[in-house]
Amino acid sequence: MNRNLYDFLGLLVSIAFVLALKGLSSPKSARRGNLIGAFGATFATLIVFFAPHQNGEKSFQHIWWILIALGLGVLVGVPAARKIQMTAMPQMVALFNGVGGGAAALVSTVEYLRLGSNASTADVIATVFTVVVGSVSFAGSVLTFLKLQELMTTRPVLLPAGRFLIAATLAAVIGTATWVIAAKGAAPLIVMGIASLLFGVLFVLPVGGADVPIVISLLNAFTGLTVAASGYVLGATLLIVAGTLVGASGTILTRLMAAAMGRSLFGTLFGAFTAKAQEVQGSGEVKPVKSGSPEDVAILLGYASRVVIVPGFGLAVAQAQHTVRELADLLAAKGIDVAYGIHPVAGRMPGHMNVLLAEANVPYEQLVEMEEINPTFPQTDVVLVVGANDVVNPAAKNTPGCPIFGMPILDVQSAGNIIFLKRSMRPGFAGIENDLLYDPKTTLLFGDAKESLTKTVTALKNL
Ligand code: NDP
Repeated sequence: MNRNLYDFLGLLVSIAFVLALKGLSSPKSARRGNLIGAFGATFATLIVFFAPHQNGEKSFQHIWWILIALGLGVLVGVPAARKIQMTAMPQMVALFNGVGGGAAALVSTVEYLRLGSNASTADVIATVFTVVVGSVSFAGSVLTFLKLQELMTTRPVLLPAGRFLIAATLAAVIGTATWVIAAKGAAPLIVMGIASLLFGVLFVLPVGGADVPIVISLLNAFTGLTVAASGYVLGATLLIVAGTLVGASGTILTRLMAAAMGRSLFGTLFGAFTAKAQEVQGSGEVKPVKSGSPEDVAILLGYASRVVIVPGFGLAVAQAQHTVRELADLLAAKGIDVAYGIHPVAGRMPGHMNVLLAEANVPYEQLVEMEEINPTFPQTDVVLVVGANDVVNPAAKNTPGCPIFGMPILDVQSAGNIIFLKRSMRPGFAGIENDLLYDPKTTLLFGDAKESLTKTVTALKNL
């Protein structure tokens, strides 16, 4: 293929990636955006096989190895993406992202070794950047996967002399990077790669709980930058464009997530070092709670004028999105004003609740963002909290030192009545007790959210 045509097709792919990001910015167009992005990525992979030859070299060697690697990737990736539960999506993103960073680092290394003494200083610097950031991203992402999959503790891990270790490893990375630039050789590059992997592990170990997804997003941005730098080493414009888009969007997402959790990025990364993580596990005293039956809940709901439904992670676990919609429709048919209060970090990934409720065709107009719905709670008769906990936990406001302190919450406490649908008194993701469960205004309906909602719908129909 001639160079102009190849570059033109590359430009089309870049436009597809930009359109994909645009589409992904709204739930209505997200599916279309995703398809455009997938089409762009597939097309980009295909046109590489027809890339023009560079400097008279045969551009394609080891074609069978490449096809085998592609086949393996498809064999692993497609079933993984199809089978994954939506609630486990963040760890899959972490793993795939880490593999991307690691791959970019390896590709740059191979290219660097191939260039040998012909590598320019700019090539060497770009390689150093790719290997360092790619290795940090790979090791860090694998660790975040292990944490979210609960294959290791989700809590911050503080090693003795952790700060010193991190500083020493960072110094080793910088030292070996300088060595690579000065000496140009395989050995210093390998040592630098190992030091960077170690730094990735030490960087993520002290991050725990709800901060893990913020770090995944940050590592995702790192991977984007790694890919862009590897594009420079390989002379592949498309990689530079795609990598920069991932780097920029990952950075924006990281900032948005940190803001939604009321965290600074510095606090997220180094909070475990600077603050003594105070475990607020509850007082241990046995306090009374008010539990009710589906019939009690139906009466509360059926005679309300305004009901706000607060969905959370438990809604996703119970896969109760269709049943909650059925309940909402039933209430609306009785002339009751119904809205959904959406917290930006409800569930386990950004936009989790929007995606879940969109699956049940809940009208977008009924989904109300936190800032907008909070002032309406005093005029709300009943709040139905379906499998949510941390996002309504007042400890975020009044318990300094607790893991979610500072996170903005849905102020459901100011509503007339609060109903919690959950299976037990167990806490949510942050592992802290929720005083709202003991509030005199609160009724607990214990059980799986889907079963409880189904029974409530039946009771409401019989009212
Ligand atoms: P939480 O994890 O705080 O609470 C979920 C609740 O659902 C629990 O109280 C649990 O109680 C209940 N539950 C679980 N399964 C069921 C079921 N089958 N039926 C009924 N109830 C069920 O979730 P929230 O959505 O309130 O908060 C999200 C948390 O996750 C926040 O701490 C956030 O920071 C964090 N996070 C958010 C991410 C994001 O991007 N959205 C990413 C990662 C973390 P029980 O076991 O008693 O049933």
